[in-house]
Amino acid sequence: MMPWFKRVEKGIHTPTEEKKETPDGLWYKCPECKAVISMAEHRKNLNTCVKCDYHDRIGSEEYFAILFDDNKFTELDGNLTSGDPLNFVDSKPYPQRIAATEKKTGLKDAVRTAYGKMNGQNITIACMDFAFIGGSMGSVVGEKISRAIDHARETRTPFMMISKSGGARMMEAGFSLMQMAKTSAKLALLSEERLPYISLLTDPTTGGVTASYAMLGDFNIAEPGALIGFAGPRVIRETIGKDLPKDFQSAEFVLEHGFLDFIVDRKALKQKLTDLLEMVMPKETPKSEKPKKLRATSKAS
Ligand SMILES: [Zn+2]
Repeated sequence: MMPWFKRVEKGIHTPTEEKKETPDGLWYKCPECKAVISMAEHRKNLNTCVKCDYHDRIGSEEYFAILFDDNKFTELDGNLTSGDPLNFVDSKPYPQRIAATEKKTGLKDAVRTAYGKMNGQNITIACMDFAFIGGSMGSVVGEKISRAIDHARETRTPFMMISKSGGARMMEAGFSLMQMAKTSAKLALLSEERLPYISLLTDPTTGGVTASYAMLGDFNIAEPGALIGFAGPRVIRETIGKDLPKDFQSAEFVLEHGFLDFIVDRKALKQKLTDLLEMVMPKETPKSEKPKKLRATSKAS
């Protein structure tokens, strides 16, 4: 019998980049409720599931688009890249890993920093990218965050950090760990100057990032369902020799145990931040304008 399909020509090879795959990004399948939604609709919903509100991981490009008015912002230190202080080699030399990751992601490191307006309010924002070596914190991450904090201090604008990280970057060892102290010290200066710091913890925020700037906000807030912790659950279970409670290290669990101020849905994020900053950054009243006298009685209610 004739086979239904026979490859007549031998040795046909299609280069990988010419292979036709299922068009990427047409459909989104929610990993939580398995609902299948068109990518366009999913994006319009800010990459949260329209059925169950699962918050999909996004990066600095998306967060900046959500928060800055008309997606207009000025990036700070956009070309800062990592050195290789330890001549580190794992499966490949560190500089090669950096170069490959830059090419794959179009990013220079695991954080981008920028300033602009959010609902008309000036703000400086640093946002981590998990796509860049697991959002790991190396010297570039620490330095860019520190400089962004300096920018906030110089311009007297509130500072916001959006964390998403597996922790310190192994390939820079001690240099990574030093970033915890450096960023914390800068945040202390910001605090002395009475400028607000909002820290948003997104999925996942772990390791040295949780142990430093992510938990130092005047407001520590998180996205629903985000994994937040220091060490992984397996390490903790083996150390304490006990089973861990359900939903351990979820944003909801962390909130219930007093480490977060509130959990915010991504779709409400911009407005919530604006309301919050309006409360803590009161507009300066011009000197000519005398404050209105408070009325002793009110008509309403
Ligand atoms: Zn879902």
